[in-house]
Amino acid sequence: TPEDRALIDGFQETVDDTPTGPLPVVAIIGRPNVGKSTLVNRILRRREAVVEDTPGVTRDRVAYDAEWAGRDFTLLDTGGWEIGVEGINLRVAEQAEVAIEMADVVIFVVDAIVGATDDDESVVKLLRRSGKPVVLVANKVDDQRFEADAAALWNLGLGEPMPLSALHGRGSGDVLDAVLDVLPQVSAAGKAPLQGGPRRVALVGRPNVGKSSLLNRLAGEERVVVDDVAGTTRDPVDEIIELGGRPWNFVDTAGIRRRVNQTRGADFYASLRTQAALEKAEVAVVLIDTHESITEQDLRIISQVVETGRALVIAYNKWDLLDEERRYYLEKEIDRELVRVTWAPRVNVSALTGRHVDKLTPALDTALASWDRRIPTSRLNGVLGEIVAGHPHPVRGGKQPRILFATQASTRPPRFVIFTSGFLEAGYRRFLERRLREEFGFDGTPIEISVRVRE
Ligand code: GDP
Ligand code: GDP
Repeated sequence: TPEDRALIDGFQETVDDTPTGPLPVVAIIGRPNVGKSTLVNRILRRREAVVEDTPGVTRDRVAYDAEWAGRDFTLLDTGGWEIGVEGINLRVAEQAEVAIEMADVVIFVVDAIVGATDDDESVVKLLRRSGKPVVLVANKVDDQRFEADAAALWNLGLGEPMPLSALHGRGSGDVLDAVLDVLPQVSAAGKAPLQGGPRRVALVGRPNVGKSSLLNRLAGEERVVVDDVAGTTRDPVDEIIELGGRPWNFVDTAGIRRRVNQTRGADFYASLRTQAALEKAEVAVVLIDTHESITEQDLRIISQVVETGRALVIAYNKWDLLDEERRYYLEKEIDRELVRVTWAPRVNVSALTGRHVDKLTPALDTALASWDRRIPTSRLNGVLGEIVAGHPHPVRGGKQPRILFATQASTRPPRFVIFTSGFLEAGYRRFLERRLREEFGFDGTPIEISVRVRE
């Protein structure tokens, strides 16, 4: 009907307005007890129902979706990062280093009552070196009497300290306004992958799966002189490696090459580094040690890739060690544990012998092509119409939601929005995702489908 048509046009406009690319990242850093978590809670409370405050989940959460004055951003909470890590100095600096690396804007919180400490000074050095915009917050300024304590923090040389009481909210609006002033539209730390240059690959996996061995094998053969590669914006921690006759940017390799000393909490930092690498990458190669059973940690890393919306290739390493029996159980484990990502291209490699390492390039190409893919709206709706005609949504209580229209809102990864006249059951959504994958072949990329119900 014309009414439907008008609605659909309206929807289409909303969809096309949606900014694409990773959200800008704001990190809150500072020593323990300066009030970081209090500030995070204050910022999040400003928008109802943002936090999935499931007990036990929150502790592990690193990032939250937040909003201020109509701008969306990702808020990094380093307040929970301290758990189980020893050595205050190392802890503060190392946390800060990781957080700064991931951030577009840093909120550096100092306890105005205590004043600046040596730890604060060492964070200032890191901030200077990073060149990232910093909002310096003098916290615990609960009333005017403490304003002078805040002013003393000019000494840090990071510009004007903004007085705040994270606890009572005093000054929090000004702090957020100052953040928005320097916040980019799209994350540059996540480097929206539009500038061309070599494609960015993150090599990830739990410790000892063979990341550095594989990196060495890949790099050892054909190292590229970076200056020769046009359009390269490369961090010192990245490495350009030529594979299949083309340069590829392996991001954040410093963390792989450096043998991290096994302090307590090293796993936790490893997981933060994985996240940082994923934010910068377009595609991830997740290494699995086939010689051992697939672990929780392997699955968590794969989920991290999917949730970050990156293309995915799974490399089963140490293939040289497999005997018949282990191979049999491995395939069973893969069938059982990795059903969610059957779409990911698979390569069976040995970093040690070089077996099938050359198969990595075609797998990366496949995954990235899917990740970049855009389905024209007319084609999408044609195919969806056939899928739905062949297998309509079940009737519930005499009602059956109609699918009105669908569009691909963005690529990298492909995100679809389906407009309907009623709520779609989870099973039916999964069915649609599976069929869309079958029709369009999104091998190697997660896809997102969101449903908007016509009011
Ligand atoms: P974090 O370790 O940096 O995350 O610090 P928390 O947010 O856990 O805060 C440490 C302590 O300082 C808690 O007892 C807070 O209630 C307190 N605190 C945080 N912000 C303020 C503030 O603005 N004023 C006062 N008086 N106390 C605060
Ligand atoms: P990382 O912690 O993920 O960087 O893992 P490493 O590259 O340091 O490898 C951990 C151990 O596994 C080292 O002893 C490697 O020699 C060994 N390794 C890595 N890849 C292979 C492989 O393909 N086959 C065998 N047999 N050993 C491997």
